Amino acid sequence: MSDRYAVIGNPIGHTKSPLIHGLFAQECGQDMEYVAIEGPLEPSEAFANTVHDFIAPDGRGMNVTAPFKLHAFDMADERSERATLAGAVNAMKFENGRIIAENFDGVGLLRDIEVNLHQPMAGKRVLILGAGGAVRGALLPFIGARPAQLVVANRHLDKAQALIEQVDAGDSLIARGYPDLESMGAFDLVVNATSASLSGELPPVPPSVFSADGTAYELAYGKGLTPFLQLAKNAGIRNIADGVGMLVEQAAEAFAWWRGVRPQTRAVIDRLTVPLE
Ligand code: NDP
Repeated sequence: MSDRYAVIGNPIGHTKSPLIHGLFAQECGQDMEYVAIEGPLEPSEAFANTVHDFIAPDGRGMNVTAPFKLHAFDMADERSERATLAGAVNAMKFENGRIIAENFDGVGLLRDIEVNLHQPMAGKRVLILGAGGAVRGALLPFIGARPAQLVVANRHLDKAQALIEQVDAGDSLIARGYPDLESMGAFDLVVNATSASLSGELPPVPPSVFSADGTAYELAYGKGLTPFLQLAKNAGIRNIADGVGMLVEQAAEAFAWWRGVRPQTRAVIDRLTVPLE
C-alpha cells in the first residue's frame, strides 16, 4: 500500500493541496497517496480521533488548515521552534507512534519573496500587516533573513506588541499601530498578512508606506487585485504578488520533510496562478 498523506480542514472543498502534492509526487517519483479530509468541528475530541484514525493503517503525514491549526498544535508530541512561536501547526509527520509538528507557512512565504520574486530581505525595511497566525509563523524566518528593520502593524497594537516580545531580535523589530505608519516613511517590502482581503476590505494602511521600486505582497491568493494590491499599484508599485507562491512553497517544504526530496515549484506555481488583473 502507498504511504498516505492528507490535508485536514473545514471547509476543505477549496483546497489545492491534493493537486500540488500529486504533482510533486509525480515529479519526484514518490509512491504516495494524498487526500483531503473534512475534519469534524465538534465535539472537541473529534479532531484528534480523526487524525488517529488516519494514522492507524499507513498515515505518514498531514497538512492542517483552518480551523484546526491550534488543535494540531495541542495534540502534537513534539513541536518545532517555528510551530511553538506560531502556536499553530500546518504540517504533521507521524513517526514511531509520535506526532511531530511543524509550521512551514513562514518559511514558504520567505522563500517565495526571496527566491521566486528575487527580493532578498537583508538590510531592507520590511512592514508586515497583521498579528494573527500567519504573522506568528513568519516572524522567525523573517528575522533570520536579517532585514534592517521589521515593523509589525496591527489594529490591536497590544497583540503585535505581545508577539514581538516573544522574540529576541533587538531594536530592529518593532510593533506599531496603523496611525503610526503615517510618519514612518516608505518600506522596501510591505506584506499584507491580515485577513482583510478575504472579505474585500483594506487594512487602514497609508499609501506613504509604499516605495515605487519596492514590493507589495498579499498573502491571500486567487482573488485578483485585492484592495491592498490596488492601493499599492495606485501608489506606483510595479512589483506586486499574491500568496500563491507561498502556498506552493510551504507545500514543498512539507513534502521535502516527509519524503526527503525537494520538488521543483515553478511549474506548479505557474499552473495555479490566477492573473492579478
Ligand atoms: P488570523 O485570523 O489569525 O489573523 C487575522 C489578522 O488580520 C489579525 O491580525 C486581524 O487584526 C487582521 N485583520 C482582519 N481584518 C482586518 C481589517 N479589516 N483591517 C485590518 N486588519 C484586519 O488569520 P491568519 O493570520 O491565519 O491569515 C491571514 C491571511 O493570510 C489570510 O488572508 C489567509 O488566507 C492568508 N494565508 C495565506 C497562506 C498562503 O499559503 N498563501 C497561508 C496562511 C494564511 P486584529 O488582531 O486587530 O483583529
